[in-house]
Amino acid sequence: MAKDYYEILGVGKNATKEEIKKAYKNLAKKYHPDLNKEEGSAEKFKQISEAAAVLADDEKRSQYDRYGTTADQFGQGFQGFDFSDFMHGSDFGFDFDSIFESFFGGGFGRQRRGPSRGSDLRYDLEITLEEAYRGATKNITVPRLEKCENCNGLGAEKESDIINCPDCSGTGVIRRAQRTPFGMLATTTTCRKCHGNGSYIKNPCSECNGKGVVKKTRKIEIKVPAGAEEGTNLRIRGEGEAGEKGAETGDLYVIIHAAEHDVFERHGDDIYTKVQVPFAVAALGGEVEVPTLDGKAKLKIPAGTQSNSIFRMKGKGVPYLHGYGQGNENVEVIVEVPKKLTKKQKELLKEFDKESGRKGFFKRILE
Ligand SMILES: [Zn+2]
Ligand SMILES: [Zn+2]
Repeated sequence: MAKDYYEILGVGKNATKEEIKKAYKNLAKKYHPDLNKEEGSAEKFKQISEAAAVLADDEKRSQYDRYGTTADQFGQGFQGFDFSDFMHGSDFGFDFDSIFESFFGGGFGRQRRGPSRGSDLRYDLEITLEEAYRGATKNITVPRLEKCENCNGLGAEKESDIINCPDCSGTGVIRRAQRTPFGMLATTTTCRKCHGNGSYIKNPCSECNGKGVVKKTRKIEIKVPAGAEEGTNLRIRGEGEAGEKGAETGDLYVIIHAAEHDVFERHGDDIYTKVQVPFAVAALGGEVEVPTLDGKAKLKIPAGTQSNSIFRMKGKGVPYLHGYGQGNENVEVIVEVPKKLTKKQKELLKEFDKESGRKGFFKRILE
């Protein structure tokens, strides 16, 4: 009597292909011999695989529906493989995950372990505008994993303490052969004895407990280039965390943040500031002292300068981060109107006003 494939998968006779796949997937997860160590699970797994292979195939399914059997059951499909052929032949060298993937999509991922590259580290570094202008050397303190010096990253006291895993012959994986409706199937699982490392340590290093890395706080000198600005990303190769067991070290990324400045505002490579210019200087012309990133400088004020006029001082900005040259300093002039006047100044201003022909207005306000 042929087996009832529908019953095995727990689906109805009218189940759609999707339902069949779903049922198979759930049952396969439950009974896969690598996941289920109960007795009989391998046999159960074989049955559900066989059922799914027939019911998921339109032609085989209709044959099965009609005759209660398929040619496969009598043919080569499930029998006649020489086990040693299989083990040595590459034809069946697919693993469970990939066949699962290609037949049914999705599936459950398995992580293969190997010595992994050290992590990259990020460090946020604030710099002043002066430092951005000149460039700077900064010493930062970074806690990170470093290669254990006691064992030179081996994780073992001696090289001979590292034992090649006998269970998996150092491959880190266990391969098993299984008959399924798709033919023989090689299943590959992470070796439990060595956790996929291929080896294990008999006598772990006392400093690092076999990890090969230790936590250290390290001072690192950072060269901040002139022109660096908010968001500038400096990658320092090999200054991240040590990799496992000699794997590549990660990188350190220093992200620049620009501190606010009391006097200047920076936009791109240009800087902006404001200076107060006495009313008389603005009117008559003259010179005022202005701050620059390089110290004080003189700025010529032409006669008749209005408040909020902007004067550009070429090349007094921040150097370009890439390439030669630098930005400008833009100086906004604020004409200072005196708040307190001496008697004499008042007289003079009235005189001045008379001269300007605005007698009526001043008269009203000042007298
Ligand atoms: Zn060590
Ligand atoms: Zn192993």
